[in-house]
Amino acid sequence: MPELLQIRPQAESLPEEETFPSVEISADFREFTQAESVEKLVHLAQEILADPTFPTARAWRKAGGKAVGCFPVYTPQELVHSFGMLPVAMQGGGENLEISRADAALGSFLCSISKSTLEMALTGLLDPFDAFVFPYICDVSRNLDGIFARVLPQKPSHMLHLPQNFASPATIPFLVAEYRSLIAKLERVAGRPFSQEDLRASIAVFNEQRELVERLAALKRETPWKVTLVEYYLLLRLGGLLPREVHVPLLRRALAELEGRERKSKDAIRVIVIGPFCEQPTLELLQLLEDVGCYVVGEEFQMLHRWCPRIEPGANPLESLAASYVRTPVDIGVRSTPTTKAAAVLERVDASRAQGVVFLTAKFCEPALEDVVLYRRALEGRGLPYLHMEFEEKSTTYEQARLQLETFVESILFD
Ligand code: SF4
Repeated sequence: MPELLQIRPQAESLPEEETFPSVEISADFREFTQAESVEKLVHLAQEILADPTFPTARAWRKAGGKAVGCFPVYTPQELVHSFGMLPVAMQGGGENLEISRADAALGSFLCSISKSTLEMALTGLLDPFDAFVFPYICDVSRNLDGIFARVLPQKPSHMLHLPQNFASPATIPFLVAEYRSLIAKLERVAGRPFSQEDLRASIAVFNEQRELVERLAALKRETPWKVTLVEYYLLLRLGGLLPREVHVPLLRRALAELEGRERKSKDAIRVIVIGPFCEQPTLELLQLLEDVGCYVVGEEFQMLHRWCPRIEPGANPLESLAASYVRTPVDIGVRSTPTTKAAAVLERVDASRAQGVVFLTAKFCEPALEDVVLYRRALEGRGLPYLHMEFEEKSTTYEQARLQLETFVESILFD
């Protein structure tokens, strides 16, 4: 494994008083603003992800700020930001977190992210947060909101209802009303009233971030040899952890370096990866995809930055924000659009000139698994190859995954 992926030892092998590697970030985030290369940023990102105590949220608090933990997949982050608070993506505990208490509270047939999120709540790892948002993307997320209200009663938790009928004229007003109910809680946490002007300014910041994220995705799609999948993923992942005002210039610098890279293209197949929109696969698994000869030219990583293209705030920025969710062209597992799924997956294959699809779904993730059935039918109709693999947060062995992927790649290369 290359040096970049030498992640720190797992929690159980560390002494009890030092369960996690403790990463301290300066309150002004200078480690990131002064990082001189993509390699340095990738190292920093790995360090942060190996530490489940949310180092960036702790740094933000050191400077006197408040932070809101946002469960995947969609939270109107602009709203949180408009109150001067930091929206932080809570995307599970990763490989370093041992699950002990949450196992007793949740069934064994649930996805890992639900258990690691609860474990973090029960063990004080979510202390840097002042409030939480759980979008209603599935029964698991819905129940987590209720559980959080009981286990962390001193910290407001909000379940954001999301529409599933995107054609009704009542949908946008419904979502605006949902936003208003979230706003009422955010006002109490922030100690200041909602302001349309602040929201407009926040939308501008997130527009900038989305534009750069799209540029990075285009770079990966068109010249996948210039940026590795792990680099690509970590640059996106930082975007949900850092203040966006830090991530935007960082991403701009990274793009300038990556776009100018001179690297040769390998003999690899072009694939899109569908499924990991909520729980996150390990970095080792991502690296394995490229090691066996896949260029990932389309995927569902870090959808929090990619729900919609640019938002024009207009006269009513709250309504524009709601419209951006309702009218998004993004069609992933947590949006109930069964009649458009088949066309959507084929469109994605065509747009990325993919030769095959890898379904990489979290174990026990119902929204992802239900869609695989619809997607498979569409791909089979076109004669497009696909492979379905499941993952968990704490994957330790990759031999079977390697074998499956190698067989898949060879079946396309020697077809
Ligand atoms: S991984 Fe799937 S089942 Fe689990 S919380 Fe996310 S969307 Fe729901």
